[in-house]
Amino acid sequence: MIDPSDYQFATLAIHAGATPDPVTKARATPIYQTTSYVFDNTDHAAGLFGLQQFGNIYTRIGNPTQAVLEERIASLEGGTAALAVASGHAAQLLVFHTLMQPGDEFIAARQLYGGSINQFSHAFKSFGWNVRWAETRDPDSFRRQITGKTKAIFVESIANPGGIVTDIEAMASIAKEASVPLIVDNTLATPYLIRPIEWGADIVVHSATKFLGGHGTSIGGLSFDAGSFNWSATKRFPMLSEPLASYGGVKLHEQFGHMAFAIGCRVLGLRDLGPAISPFNAFMILTGIETLPLRMQRHCDNARAVAQTLSRHPRVAWVSYASLPNDPSYGLAQNYCPKGAGAVFTFGVKGGYDAGVRLVNRVKLFSHLANVGDTRSLIIHPASTTHRQLTDEQKASAGAGPEVVRVSIGIEDPADIIADLDMALAG
Ligand SMILES: *Cc1c(COP(=O)(O)O)cnc(C)c1O
Repeated sequence: MIDPSDYQFATLAIHAGATPDPVTKARATPIYQTTSYVFDNTDHAAGLFGLQQFGNIYTRIGNPTQAVLEERIASLEGGTAALAVASGHAAQLLVFHTLMQPGDEFIAARQLYGGSINQFSHAFKSFGWNVRWAETRDPDSFRRQITGKTKAIFVESIANPGGIVTDIEAMASIAKEASVPLIVDNTLATPYLIRPIEWGADIVVHSATKFLGGHGTSIGGLSFDAGSFNWSATKRFPMLSEPLASYGGVKLHEQFGHMAFAIGCRVLGLRDLGPAISPFNAFMILTGIETLPLRMQRHCDNARAVAQTLSRHPRVAWVSYASLPNDPSYGLAQNYCPKGAGAVFTFGVKGGYDAGVRLVNRVKLFSHLANVGDTRSLIIHPASTTHRQLTDEQKASAGAGPEVVRVSIGIEDPADIIADLDMALAG
């Protein structure tokens, strides 16, 4: 297997984690479509179950195709160990399951993917995990929400749906002051544009469903950590620092050091909650990642061209895209993602709710659907769909007011994408 430190990003996107299959010599990573793995003998089995030895037991907990995906993304993000799971939401669930006890709190940016706002406000609340909201554009608002019960800070690197760029370094220093990990959802940036660990993030999560898979075919999620957080400095993270009854008294941080968090998500979260990724989806996402650098650059170049055109369009009231020089996030975008501010952004149509609905009903090339990060250009009117469940106030603060249209610009010919929007806005 290649040593990641010897190679550049585009090479690692194709090679990291993979070797030709030792038995068949297959060059592409095979889909190991198996539920379980044979033990050499009872000692081998006992070692695996007791966490004394690494190896495959059962695909709910790990699978060789999944393992290649995990190594590849860890090397692209500069993390220590990764975990691939069934969806982005499952990744978030396992991350918080490893950090939180009932009654604990975490602070999250208000500017998040609508599904994450729902997950945090409802499902997590029923587990006794309480969210406090703060403003992405105002890092100090996070500091003001810190209490003795705070266990984490959660932000998106580029915030969905508005395309706001987060000042990750400022968030990391606030998290450090509070001795809690900073979790960054890096879905919209991908490690091609932003590597949050280099800016001080402790834990990164992904919906691999989006740009990593990249083709709109497979649901998956990833989490990994920087390996630098000291879980044993306090007793605030007992899953990681205290003896585990379900593993014969093992203390994860003491035994596994910088890999403790990823191992905790796997051997506690994945084992007991169960959202395993299918080997087939792991394979699809792995294949998608091979072209990530090519696709992301094209996504960004197309998005910039579309945003520039829309910003001059007489039927468009405003465009929120951080690569436009007059955007409030422009300075942060130049600092954090100079290659481009991603492909997902919003704009406001003149004429409010009705004009938004009219636009999504008239496009021909764009697909009207609730996803981002496909090769195809996608469009949605959040107020009538993804953000429909939120209150008017939540909608407005999440950047999903009545006139807002969200696009995820694909990698088609940019002239065709622009012509489709022009046609749909006209008349
Ligand atoms: C889609 C998405 C998620 C949720 O991921 P799923 O794979 O759909 O569960 C989380 N965060 C962001 C930014 C997303 O775009």
